[in-house]
Amino acid sequence: MSNATFPLLCAKDLSVRYRVSGGRGVLMAVNDVTFDLLRATTLGLVGESGCGKTTLARAVLRLVPVSDGQVVFDGLDLSHLSGSHLRRLRRRMQIVFQDPLGSLSPRMTIGDAVGEGLRIHRLRRGSAIRDRVAEMLERVGLQAADMVRYPYELSGGQRQRVAIARALAVGPELLVCDEPVSALDVSAQAQILSLLVGLRRDFGLTYLFISHNLAIVDSVCDAVAVMYLGRFVEIGPRAAVFENPGHPYTRVLLESVPDPEPRPRRASLRTIGEPASPSSPPPGCPFHPRCPFAVDVCRHDRPELRATSSAPAHRVACHRADEDLSGATPSNASGITA
Ligand code: SF4
Repeated sequence: MSNATFPLLCAKDLSVRYRVSGGRGVLMAVNDVTFDLLRATTLGLVGESGCGKTTLARAVLRLVPVSDGQVVFDGLDLSHLSGSHLRRLRRRMQIVFQDPLGSLSPRMTIGDAVGEGLRIHRLRRGSAIRDRVAEMLERVGLQAADMVRYPYELSGGQRQRVAIARALAVGPELLVCDEPVSALDVSAQAQILSLLVGLRRDFGLTYLFISHNLAIVDSVCDAVAVMYLGRFVEIGPRAAVFENPGHPYTRVLLESVPDPEPRPRRASLRTIGEPASPSSPPPGCPFHPRCPFAVDVCRHDRPELRATSSAPAHRVACHRADEDLSGATPSNASGITA
């Protein structure tokens, strides 16, 4: 199943549940999520902090236990793989974290950190490890001579380059990027994003790209999934989601993106209040307590993801997705700025 037309990664009805401390109740961190990720494409995962993006990414890599559902990587169902098979497969699925200082050992030189995966997976031996490390460092914009340095000697952007080189060294096909630039200054952000885009092109990589920053997702992703309280509420091609958002929550997220030319806004995350807890989600549509357009059905029937009338690949979980709400009067408007 290595044909480019087949997805590299499929998640089907994936759920991750945690027992709330004290044994009372269950926290649904990820709830019934299904998606396909095509090879050499980038799927952006967006949503507020705590919506389940990072847990979903870790569940895909089997770094946290999956409660229900399937993760299929290159045709292999990960839930049926034993420990050693899973470890071998992990070489092909790497992750770059938000904070490179936290993900790199302060006691390891850059060379040892980048070469560690080569040793663990027995991909190179002796001087071939050093050659591969030098090659990777240069590919990410550092120098081979940097391999004797330590993480504390580097800037934040350089450390993130090391983390990318370390992930890249073992030859992955899937790279999960978990807020890879949010700890960096604006200039380093642009450089790392440009590096990631170039690496995807040169190595045919597939990215699952987590970010709370929609402007960044707009610049690097082919498709976008919007998460809310552990569920996908909208998914589709980037242009469809950004230019024709079907879910009121997606619109609020887009309205919240800083705009160089300030315009009147209908609503922002600040004005619609806090989300409910994932351990006690509201009945009906999970967004209804914050939704300016909620009607009676929203309070008791949870909408499923359905294809929009404009594009089958663009799916939205909203009872009013096919209505033109641009001129609608908000029905749940306490605190909504118009
Ligand atoms: Fe708002 Fe109702 Fe749509 Fe949920 S289903 S997003 S409450 S309009």
